[in-house]
Amino acid sequence: MRNIAIIGAGITGLSLAYNLSGNNITIFDKSWRPGGRVSTRKNGNLIFDHGAHYLSKNHEVEQLRNLLIKLDIIEEKKIKFSTNHLKNKIEEKNILIGKNGMNSIPKKIFDNLEINSHFNSNITKIEKKNGTYSLVTDKNQFNDFDLVLVCIPYLQAKHLTKEFINFKIEHEPKYEPIYTVMLSYEKDNEIKIDGGVNLHKDISFFMKQNFKFPNLTNECWVINLSSKFTNENLEIDNKVLEDMVISIFEKSFNIKQKPKFQNTHRWLYAQTQITYNSLSKKNWLGSKDSKLFLSGDWVMGKSLSDAWNAGLKLSHYINILNY
Ligand SMILES: Cc1cc2nc3c(=O)[nH]c(=O)nc-3n(C[C@H](O)[C@H](O)[C@H](O)COP(=O)(O)OP(=O)(O)OC[C@H]3O[C@@H](n4cnc5c(N)ncnc54)[C@H](O)[C@@H]3O)c2cc1C
Repeated sequence: MRNIAIIGAGITGLSLAYNLSGNNITIFDKSWRPGGRVSTRKNGNLIFDHGAHYLSKNHEVEQLRNLLIKLDIIEEKKIKFSTNHLKNKIEEKNILIGKNGMNSIPKKIFDNLEINSHFNSNITKIEKKNGTYSLVTDKNQFNDFDLVLVCIPYLQAKHLTKEFINFKIEHEPKYEPIYTVMLSYEKDNEIKIDGGVNLHKDISFFMKQNFKFPNLTNECWVINLSSKFTNENLEIDNKVLEDMVISIFEKSFNIKQKPKFQNTHRWLYAQTQITYNSLSKKNWLGSKDSKLFLSGDWVMGKSLSDAWNAGLKLSHYINILNY
């Protein structure tokens, strides 16, 4: 039985923990909860999936599909989705969502794993001593790991592991940042769609939360700014950003009331634009001693099924490695 440390309890880290069961696994995350960018935020009686919105019904990762059915954590919804607001183009779309918000997916996967965990633990350094690895946080040091799997956004992973891994600039994946604005209205605005794209040149995506959470008494929306707008406005003040989004929303849907709640979340490494695999033809990065590996959604794509698949592929390799 190997002592394995996993840094990052997002979907990639959870996939590795699931697929490497039988080892002594400890997972670390700087956040207080598992899930990473699959995040459901509550504010009083308001609720928003302000990271991943849904799982594509046609994703091709069979293991993830079967696990989610077995754990009974997803439901299929048929929604009205606007592909072009100005031309009033509305389609019906079938999507998969978490039964209690998107974060219930990683939460339930995590709850069913038999592993050790340390949340609120930001790993700031990795050290190698006498053939094993130690992980360091501001307050603690964790020793004696045979294997360390780093499942965090690429640039952060590079910073943490640069002593051990030979990074190639030409294989550097690219992420796009996305600002997310959460809005809630006291009364129903009677908007006839559940979400869509192309509402405005600066808004890449918007989704109503009420079809996800039937007990919501106020109307809630999550609105993603385009990565172009986000990149060009990295210094923008939250209030300025929210007022701009509110104004676009008011005009687009003829809204007559002011929101009762507004908030912004800044995802700096939101979605992969160019994958590591497309540049290097490889499915992970590893150290010379084959005891430290990097993975994440950035290896394969921009969705949570890509993240699961990246973890799955690395686990196959680790399972056949003969230490
Ligand atoms: C706004 C937005 C919308 C999206 N919409 C969709 C969608 O609709 N459908 C879809 O399929 N995908 C969507 N995605 C993408 C999807 O959320 C990601 O592809 C997937 O969740 C990535 O998982 P991951 O485990 O690779 O990384 P992450 O989820 O980023 O997990 C990394 C974890 O590592 C932790 N961490 C980082 N550094 C450290 C450290 N030094 N020490 C300890 N812990 C650390 C973080 O706290 C985090 O929990 C969206 C993403 C965003 C941001």
